[in-house]
Amino acid sequence: MIEIVYRFDPEHPPSRIQPADAEEARKKLEVGNYEFAVLLDPRSGHAVDGSVVVPFDLQDIGIDSPGNAPRQQPFAAILGCADARVPTELIFSRGCNEMFVVRVAGNVLSRDGLGSMDYAVENLRGSLRLLVVLGHSQCGAVTAAADAFLNPSSYLNVANNHPIRSIVNTLFPAVRTAADTLERTWGRDIERKPGYRLALIETAIIMNAAMTARMLMQELSLQQPNPLKVVYGIYDLVSRRVHVPRSVEKSPTCLVEPPLDAAGFLQLGTEVARSSLIQGLLGFQ
Ligand SMILES: [Zn+2]
Repeated sequence: MIEIVYRFDPEHPPSRIQPADAEEARKKLEVGNYEFAVLLDPRSGHAVDGSVVVPFDLQDIGIDSPGNAPRQQPFAAILGCADARVPTELIFSRGCNEMFVVRVAGNVLSRDGLGSMDYAVENLRGSLRLLVVLGHSQCGAVTAAADAFLNPSSYLNVANNHPIRSIVNTLFPAVRTAADTLERTWGRDIERKPGYRLALIETAIIMNAAMTARMLMQELSLQQPNPLKVVYGIYDLVSRRVHVPRSVEKSPTCLVEPPLDAAGFLQLGTEVARSSLIQGLLGFQ
């Protein structure tokens, strides 16, 4: 049996120890994701008793202080996709009032999304230590953009729907970057490979998360004298791990900082194109 338990123990209420800095906040998310991923992996052998316990403070939902709304105390703000298969708190083994979560299809940085992240930075700075852009494998929004890129006539399906068209349009630069990356790495004939469409989608998902993280960093640094650190990662729907598929992965679970310039993005693109994930989709492994 596998259990994920939100537990309030009145004898031993959890003492809320907030991460001191961005690095501690990143570690807390990475460890939480690792616990979640191995719990559900029968091959891992890491699950001791088949359960993850998330300590719960009743004050965080206002039960312990009647008449008073709890104060927001998130240590991380997450910009993630709206996909129902990516329950943000669950995949990081976190509880109520620990993360400020903004979700929109394709985890694009819309004006409203940026405004929400900006609100967190402006108003929750006392507890906030880290900003995260979270993409995920097999993203439907990125798939729609990649399909419109590969077959422009399919764009007519969203042309009359302004809100959806807006999301697809926002994702086109990442798809174009992914296409250029695959061609630069593997040659022009790569698009003839049977697995090219899936490789394009997964590459675009990674580049989109990195580019969005870089944009978020840029937008907020224009307004903040001491901007918070921004990282990104991809939640794999199969392995349930948050990582960035690259030719050399230092850790199976990781959140990383985005490149700062065009040369950095070129290098990231090459590392992604040479990752085991993309090579596998292209039939090279
Ligand atoms: Zn998605």
